[in-house]
Amino acid sequence: MSAHSFETLAIHAGQEPDPTTGAVVPPLHLSSTFKQDGVGGLRGGYEYARSGNPTRTALEECLAALEGGSRAFAFASGLAAEDTLLRSVARPGAHVLLPGDAYGGSYRLIAGVLSNWGITHTSVDLADLDAVRAAIRPETAVVWCETPTNPLLGIADIAALAGIAHDAGALLVVDNTFASPYLQQPLTLGADVVVHSTTKYVGGHSDVVGGALVVNDQTLAEKIGYHQNAVGAVAGPFDSWLTLRGIKTLAVRMERHCDNAERIVEVLSSNPAIEKILYPGLPDHPGHEVAAKQMRRFGGMVGIHLRGGIDTALAVVAKTKIFTLAESLGGVESLIEHPGKMTHQSVAGSPLEVPDDLVRLSVGIENVDDLIGDLLQALE
Ligand SMILES: *Cc1c(COP(=O)(O)O)cnc(C)c1O
Repeated sequence: MSAHSFETLAIHAGQEPDPTTGAVVPPLHLSSTFKQDGVGGLRGGYEYARSGNPTRTALEECLAALEGGSRAFAFASGLAAEDTLLRSVARPGAHVLLPGDAYGGSYRLIAGVLSNWGITHTSVDLADLDAVRAAIRPETAVVWCETPTNPLLGIADIAALAGIAHDAGALLVVDNTFASPYLQQPLTLGADVVVHSTTKYVGGHSDVVGGALVVNDQTLAEKIGYHQNAVGAVAGPFDSWLTLRGIKTLAVRMERHCDNAERIVEVLSSNPAIEKILYPGLPDHPGHEVAAKQMRRFGGMVGIHLRGGIDTALAVVAKTKIFTLAESLGGVESLIEHPGKMTHQSVAGSPLEVPDDLVRLSVGIENVDDLIGDLLQALE
């Protein structure tokens, strides 16, 4: 490719017109197996579709290009990607450092599943670099970072964490789901692995569940590639195709998500029902400067603490008409939810429990005045 700007890569990387038919869109290859011209005589490098599938390859090449990585691996879900990654880079006895407000499913995977395999963990506030240094142990294999975090929109300094992790001989893994590669490219800031739930902004249309890992290191790529095939939690061809179709508009969608979120934050900041708004674009957000340094813009996710506590929070999420009450995020349609009772139920009672006066918005790309009107009537 001669052009390397993000918008162009999103539409063309891994997506050259099909050499046999000229199809402009990568074909949906459903074949589970591929004819060999004599034993081992592979025509296009494909033998069996768990090991590799051309539609999945197109998605993986595009994701690698968008994150500034050399290789990407697509999985059946974000958690499948995380599980495969941790089995690739950590052994029984290894220690993982987690954000104090990690995505609940990542916490559950590490604390509830991989703990049975001998992986230990500590959760720590990643914005507090001294606390991170103090929590590192000789057996720490992975520093797991999310920025912005789900649902508290905390910000961690990726470059600083990469330095700390590497000094300790650990890998820095960044869950880039909330920012998407359009807003933030962790590998270029020193991270070793980027994790995505492509279910969210990358796919962008709430019609497919998927995950991905992206790396820039050949040894790491070989380890992950081995485990992707050996564990087998791969993205199916149709899921890959849908995700790739979503990616084409990632840049324009993200700009609109950011525009709409910024306007909503501005209008709601003076609303008497609201105690506090969590948005990294606000100058008084504790991570604002770091976010401004490492992100292009501040994203489409907004947290709202309500003055009336949990009762008001539950009433508001039940009253919106355009914002749909649902889990997940990052799609073109606006969603609203109560993390304490929905997405983060799995961390209730743990150190990662989220406040119950909190409502989370995934601001979509509808007309912003319609969205503001909907929120104002629900807050009345
Ligand atoms: C949704 C999500 C995941 C998990 O991804 P799935 O595709 O649901 O398995 C991981 N991290 C973050 C930040 C998420 O929002």
